[in-house]
Amino acid sequence: MTDHDQEAAAPFGTRPSQAGDTVLEARGVTKHFPVRRTAREVLGRRRRAVRAVDDISLCLRRGSVTALVGESGSGKSTVARLLSQLHPLTQGEIRLLGVPVTAGRGRSFRAYVRQVQLIFQDPFASLNPVHTVRYHLTRSLRIHGKQATDAEVFQLLERVQLIPPNEYVDKFPHELSGGQRQRVAIARALGADPKVLLADEPVSMLDVSIRLGVLNLLRDLKTRLSLAILYVTHDIASARYFADTTLVMYAGRLVEGGDSETVTQRPAHPYTQLLIASAPDPDRIADPGEQEETGSGEPPSLISPPRGCRFHPRCPKAMERCRTELPPRFEIGDDGQWAACWLYEDRPVTTRIPGAAPSAGASAPGVAGTMTEATAS
Ligand code: SF4
Repeated sequence: MTDHDQEAAAPFGTRPSQAGDTVLEARGVTKHFPVRRTAREVLGRRRRAVRAVDDISLCLRRGSVTALVGESGSGKSTVARLLSQLHPLTQGEIRLLGVPVTAGRGRSFRAYVRQVQLIFQDPFASLNPVHTVRYHLTRSLRIHGKQATDAEVFQLLERVQLIPPNEYVDKFPHELSGGQRQRVAIARALGADPKVLLADEPVSMLDVSIRLGVLNLLRDLKTRLSLAILYVTHDIASARYFADTTLVMYAGRLVEGGDSETVTQRPAHPYTQLLIASAPDPDRIADPGEQEETGSGEPPSLISPPRGCRFHPRCPKAMERCRTELPPRFEIGDDGQWAACWLYEDRPVTTRIPGAAPSAGASAPGVAGTMTEATAS
């Protein structure tokens, strides 16, 4: 691919240098899970689906962490599973190093997971309790066609800072702490020598005191191994600490993105403001009017999500058009921050993907297509 071709293919908001750094990309990824039909629905020929993920586009870059933040049920873990090819897509495309991929099963799936590894939330459930650390790491190395010598196994343990390795290699999962188990799970993922780590709430089941150590480890691996990391979390405060870029997801859709510092310090979307207001902060004294200012209530049903902006039933700033028209993404300032919210309609978008189709809700003038680069900075 020539430089010119690369630039033309770069997602909206991507600087040419960043486009070359893109390892994994989702374009308009959508996942609807069919719901089992009742007898009445069978007779009426109605089909329902859980619209878990709708029109998600993002890029994961080499040597960079992208946080995907949202509350339970927002679809963020489904995005990680779609990127790891555990579910087929309903619509959209996933590209690895610029090449569209549809990993089926068998050899093509193994070739894909060699490059894109998923780390699960619960390190105890993801390790087999009847096998030792040595077994888990040896197996990972063998499956991915690597030499499974003691030296290789010890090197993996050293990479995740389980030192000295001979103290851990013959232990069973129940003999390790939660943090150590998660480190073994990370070491097992590294056995594939991947380019991408998809970390689905990797610290949420760990004691608060050891979360920081695991996040620091992942950050260190990002730098040393130039990994592209997706960090799925409900904790926007940790995203600020750990991630270079933050994307906020609500009810199956991305609603805001930008560099982590900007999104967490100057949140633009009312939902991001709600998330930050709900995050524990010892320096902040609870304001009795806060609920009213930032919104409250429950996330909507994804079987029949609200029309227009999905956040409008909870949004204290909702306007009439929010109830009927889906807001596209609007750029905010010139540092790459964007929000899918009608409040920013008068801020024109200045860049777009050459030839990209407009977004589902992109009816307003000056609105770009949906292919916004996740990092957009
Ligand atoms: Fe609130 Fe309307 Fe913005 Fe949605 S589009 S977040 S309802 S102001």
